[in-house]
Amino acid sequence: MKKWMIYAAIGLALYAVPWIFPNSYYIHMAQGFLYTYIVVVGLNFLVGLSGQLSLGHAGFLAIGGYTIALLTNAGVPFLGGLIAAMVACAIAGAVVAMLSLRAKGPYLAMVTIAFGLLVEIIANRWVDVTGGPAGLYLSDPNLFGFKMGVVEYYWFIALVTILVTVLTDNLFTSRIGRVFRAIGNSEVASATVGVNVRNWKVLAFAISAVIAGIGGALFAFQNAYINSDSFTWDRSILFLIGVIVGGSGTRLGPVIGTVIIFLLPQWVQSLYDYHSLIFGAILLLSLILLPDGIVGGFNRLRHKNKNVKQVTIDNELQKASNQVTWAAERSQTVLNVQKAVMDFGGYRAVDEVDFQLNGPEVRGLIGPNGSGKSTTVNLLTGVYLPTSGNILWKDRDVTSFSPHQMATAGITRTFQNLQLFQELTVVQNVMVGFHLHYRTGFVANLLHTRGFHQEEQRFETEALRLLSFVGLAEKAYEQAGNLSYGEQRLVEIARAMAVKPQLLILDEPAAGASQYEVEKIMKVIRNLKEIGISIILVEHHMEIVMNVCDNITVLDFGKKIAEGDPAHIQNHPHVIEAYLGGEEVTKLVVGK
Ligand code: ADP
Ligand code: MG
Repeated sequence: MKKWMIYAAIGLALYAVPWIFPNSYYIHMAQGFLYTYIVVVGLNFLVGLSGQLSLGHAGFLAIGGYTIALLTNAGVPFLGGLIAAMVACAIAGAVVAMLSLRAKGPYLAMVTIAFGLLVEIIANRWVDVTGGPAGLYLSDPNLFGFKMGVVEYYWFIALVTILVTVLTDNLFTSRIGRVFRAIGNSEVASATVGVNVRNWKVLAFAISAVIAGIGGALFAFQNAYINSDSFTWDRSILFLIGVIVGGSGTRLGPVIGTVIIFLLPQWVQSLYDYHSLIFGAILLLSLILLPDGIVGGFNRLRHKNKNVKQVTIDNELQKASNQVTWAAERSQTVLNVQKAVMDFGGYRAVDEVDFQLNGPEVRGLIGPNGSGKSTTVNLLTGVYLPTSGNILWKDRDVTSFSPHQMATAGITRTFQNLQLFQELTVVQNVMVGFHLHYRTGFVANLLHTRGFHQEEQRFETEALRLLSFVGLAEKAYEQAGNLSYGEQRLVEIARAMAVKPQLLILDEPAAGASQYEVEKIMKVIRNLKEIGISIILVEHHMEIVMNVCDNITVLDFGKKIAEGDPAHIQNHPHVIEAYLGGEEVTKLVVGK
């Protein structure tokens, strides 16, 4: 069935409600259900996609509600007030997100609690403006001069509900939704393909706040009255319960979640004194017992039985995969690392390391475990800011660049501890890799314009091309988390290639791979070399290092102890000494 047909059916069903239940009590309840659902959809967007938690969403409900109430009482038309409520919530959401992103870990959730409480207190105490517990009375909602009665207002809410559902569905299934999900799965990997994680998290929060604000504004006119009692902390918790029990990140979850939110307060009515405690307990329990929620659980059962869409790679595509070309400039020194130092507390993990990379060379970076290789990679990709020293990339000082700036400048990487977007399919992982190359804006993604569809199609094809380049095209539509380690490492390489980097840093691309996969990975690295990008290869398999590297830099205890071509390194006394005692020596000497 076509998507619009489903929406049309839901729209008809909603339209018919006042005829099926011609009773204002039920219509009122239906209104309540719909605006609650809208808020849950908004919160689901935040929690389910970008992995951020808000324990203060009732605050946005309040801001939406009071904004429209105050403005319409001051003579602004209803629709104008609704738009103003959305704008107010967008600003409030962005500010809360910026504040909470300054905090880390559990403090992040604390900021949202503080926000919710603050709004609640203001609503309660600023009596001159909000009316406090006594509240504010509003006129009937008025649409272009037409006064809406209970039924008309219900239809209006239903229309808004459909709009919100369609548009959030669109975002879910656009590159915007994909980026949010990627951030929820791995922030650092998102950043290394060029996503400005901070801004995107702020955007997610603002969108979620706007949707909650719409719910609040609609709520305000339901009884043409609001007071401070409606925006308490346990409402925020209730919304969150709806999202999580329903199934965060799923598209049907909010419907189920809203039903539960509606039933729950009635179940615990007799225990009203303890309702906060009970809500808290339910939230905790559902997090533990139902991490994917009801809909998520069902989806998983269904996926188990579903055959994964297969792709056949036609010859055209096969050919194209051999033509991936974006060569680094064959200039002199592209990368110049000067006395890079990284201290962790008192421990010096990287100790005044110097090295240069010339044009499209493949540089091996080897050394015993803990010698500072991954830390060096983290410095070069902006994950860590060096304690001292400089990093120049094409004569530009990039020392203090963050990962997404490094990606924009042409440097990206893979990870020793795999950082795939587990919830996305393989091909979607690679599509997120094209982040810096997408051209459609927010509105095109929101509305699924023709340009949006064309771009999606184009990047999906390009992603399949890259996947066939690494030999994984037939796994394109599988969940990334289901692949073997070796395959996941290849997906990371394909994703990194999507960035179209000039310097690609591979941190132990063969770790944990089977012998068969090691050979595959080696072949891919050789192909990468032919393309002509600069590569830094951190690897323990000496077979790979000695075979593909032009030059090798050796680290030990954070210091550079040797540098040169493979033959030179193999016979270097310091290198043999550094590897002595470990199993590495056999690998190094025997494994060439
Ligand atoms: P390698 O990749 O060469 O095996 P790493 O660069 O991962 O080594 O680590 C080098 C040293 O720095 C190790 O002793 C490690 O414990 C330490 N180290 C790495 N990252 C951190 C960190 N974030 N905090 C503290 N110590 C770290
Ligand atoms: Mg490492």
